[in-house]
Amino acid sequence: MNKIYLDNSATTITDEAAVKAMLPYFSDIYGNPSSFHSFGRQAKKALEDARIKTARLINAKADEIIFTACGTESDNIAIFGTVNAFGKKCHLIATKIEHHAVLYSFKELEKRGFAVTYLSVDKNGVISLDELKKSIREDTLLVSIMHANNEVGSLQPIEKAAKIISVLNKERRDKIYFHTDAVQTSGKISVNVQTLGVDLLAMSAHKFNGPKGVGALYIRSGVNISPIIFGGHHENNMRPGTENIAYAVGLAKALELSVDSMAQNSQKIKIIKEKLQDGIIKRIPDITINGNSETSISNVLNISFNYIEGESLLAKLDMAGIAVSTGSACASGSSEPSHVLSAMGIDPIAAQGAIRFSFGHHNTEEEIDYVLDVLPKIVEDLRKMSPLYKR
Ligand SMILES: *Cc1c(COP(=O)(O)O)cnc(C)c1O
Repeated sequence: MNKIYLDNSATTITDEAAVKAMLPYFSDIYGNPSSFHSFGRQAKKALEDARIKTARLINAKADEIIFTACGTESDNIAIFGTVNAFGKKCHLIATKIEHHAVLYSFKELEKRGFAVTYLSVDKNGVISLDELKKSIREDTLLVSIMHANNEVGSLQPIEKAAKIISVLNKERRDKIYFHTDAVQTSGKISVNVQTLGVDLLAMSAHKFNGPKGVGALYIRSGVNISPIIFGGHHENNMRPGTENIAYAVGLAKALELSVDSMAQNSQKIKIIKEKLQDGIIKRIPDITINGNSETSISNVLNISFNYIEGESLLAKLDMAGIAVSTGSACASGSSEPSHVLSAMGIDPIAAQGAIRFSFGHHNTEEEIDYVLDVLPKIVEDLRKMSPLYKR
């Protein structure tokens, strides 16, 4: 049996077509897009084509897209960039379940004297619009709410939040900006900056079968934003440094492929998820599903296997050739319960036994059959060794 990769929220395999699209830009077309000669112009053309394509796929204008080094950098530019441009202390809003790329940016701003409100979530991992409304202050500059959470997949009501903010913006002189981390949704569900109503939106190629180390940030035209690193005039003065043409091309190609086969892929992934979920419910007692399929993106299944440690289960599954995660890849290795599961009010013991299965369009039903063959025995064996288990 080949190894089974069920950790697609951590990263994905790069689609062959994306790799193929990138290759010429390592060798044949290697000019610097800032150069005026033909080598430079050729590279510039490839970069701008990638930008046009990326923009079109999220319904933005090409000059509203900058390429970055990753999703984390996109989030950092969105947050620190708007705060720096504002130039005064102010109030900011985020959620308790943001990815660390966003959460730690806000923690840093708190250290620098900014006031931050962290919105709570319900047991399904979804924010309350009422709480958002009540949290907005006279001096609120930026609201950051992720599109879908990376640990449990919960989708946030971005469009409705944007409406609340836009109504307030009509009444106020200062503009409140709205950022969303769409790293877990781009390429998987419709990401349309016009219907979402956001001012800033972060993406990362390696979460939608593109290469690692390249991201994009949508910056609605008119947003008052400053760069956070300094150098040249690249990327609309927002992200200096010679552009990574190959990776920008790879991002655009992977996003195009994902959007083109979105309906097909999401149907396939939904079947796979349901098969695993139903199979686990049928075969394994004392489990809890964290989050709710109705309000979640369908490529993530987060389950607590009560009385055992998620880490031990991950290790046993790995030995059986199955790759999963305990919540977020960044948090693994620490025995702190996940901040996302804690915010959802999940009991710390249950949170310790949580495993995230995340699916991609390369997964097959046969792989799920294999997981369902081996998982019950592994769980049973671990429970037998657990002092908490009393059966
Ligand atoms: C993976 C991820 C990021 C970070 O993206 P990188 O490209 O790995 O820096 C940010 N936000 C979310 C929700 C993610 O899942």
